[in-house]
Amino acid sequence: MTDLAATFDALAQDAMARCTSCGKCAEACPTAREQGLSQDDPRGLVANLIALTRDPEAAGPANDWVTGCDASGQCSAACPEGINVRQWVSIARLNAQQARVDPAARKEEAARRFRAMSHAVRVLAAMQMPSAELARILAPIKGRKADVLFYTGCNVLKTAHIVFNVMDILDTLGIEADVVGGPSNCCGVYQFNAGDTAGYDKMGGRTFRNFGESGASRVLTWCPTCTKNFGEIEVDRAPPSFDLNHVSEFLAEQIEAMKPRFVDLPPRRAVLHEHQGIGHTLPAIRAMLAAVPNLTLVDLPQDSGFSYTCGGQAARYAERERAIHDAVAGGAVAAGADMVVTMYHSCHRALAGAEALYPFRVMNFTDVIAEALGRGGRTDYYKLYKTGGDMAQAVADARDYLESNGVKVSRETIDALTAEMFNEAGFAGDREVFRSALAGVAQ
Ligand code: SF4
Ligand code: SF4
Repeated sequence: MTDLAATFDALAQDAMARCTSCGKCAEACPTAREQGLSQDDPRGLVANLIALTRDPEAAGPANDWVTGCDASGQCSAACPEGINVRQWVSIARLNAQQARVDPAARKEEAARRFRAMSHAVRVLAAMQMPSAELARILAPIKGRKADVLFYTGCNVLKTAHIVFNVMDILDTLGIEADVVGGPSNCCGVYQFNAGDTAGYDKMGGRTFRNFGESGASRVLTWCPTCTKNFGEIEVDRAPPSFDLNHVSEFLAEQIEAMKPRFVDLPPRRAVLHEHQGIGHTLPAIRAMLAAVPNLTLVDLPQDSGFSYTCGGQAARYAERERAIHDAVAGGAVAAGADMVVTMYHSCHRALAGAEALYPFRVMNFTDVIAEALGRGGRTDYYKLYKTGGDMAQAVADARDYLESNGVKVSRETIDALTAEMFNEAGFAGDREVFRSALAGVAQ
């Protein structure tokens, strides 16, 4: 038994010992509801989760529950005993996967998913920034000296302007921070989700250990998935030597320092596309937006508990995701909002293309805060790609940046990127505009 397995076993035993089988977690679970698993007998579903935890080959509806989980965290929030049910469910899924799927197949699946992500991230990042900036982010954690480490994860590099916004905000506040991320510093989610725990430990476990070895006292995450995984795997494995927070929570601590630095901007009305489930990110982002002068945050009732972010595990519920996005866009128009604000990068990828269809701008919260501080302003290339408007400048920039990064792309790469970007749930303009414009950079 590896110490990761021992940790998970102890956590699952503790959850089962404290559980009263009240069924409230199953009742609250949006994906169990979506799958029709919890309406009739939520207590029975929990009883089956306990059976599955004891015997990973046990039959029953809990198998669908654990594999269909999108990690919303609604179960943990509903539990009167304070049990981290999301973590328990993920342990039960991992054990079931490991009991049923051959280790070589799990490893191969993890490697396939990681390769696909890594390739897309490297190409899209290389299209959006010069080599010196990219090299700075991708450099190993070892050797970093700053007390604050801003850890981007991998996928946000597809929407690189968000990373630069955060760096601008930290710089404006006089906070010295190192920025680190990219596939070679991955959180290991692809290995973990495929049940390849040895691969996870070599990737995510190593990244987390490197945080500690850097000597930083605060590690600020960007990606909600990294935040959740590190919080629910590594922090319970051994208490870290640093504070781990999502960067929005850290920035919300700095609101008083931001206020005198805010610049004059015209009145704007904003709707925040909300997600729950990751620490205090939602109240932190709401508090920051509320502090921005001349910005009215319009309250819009929305299904914010369905998943902790757009895409990812929630992507299997494409109709539900579409309904959530449609409701936000329609609600923003009805409320007279001139801006929809996203919390995370995957939400931004899903919603940015709405600018081709609706009379509002889509901005990440970091766009809004950086702009209010008189900073930011880096081109949101991903939004340009997804809206499919005039791409001449974006293509010219991509050509220069790819050359600077020494990255060659083929027609096949552009076709694969087009499929990946335009097949994900969310809004988009004309995919052919993206494909044919970017085909011009293929060699
Ligand atoms: S984390 Fe969300 S989707 Fe997963 S079991 Fe809990 S409530 Fe259901
Ligand atoms: S809500 Fe908590 S105590 Fe109730 S069944 Fe779920 S895990 Fe057990």
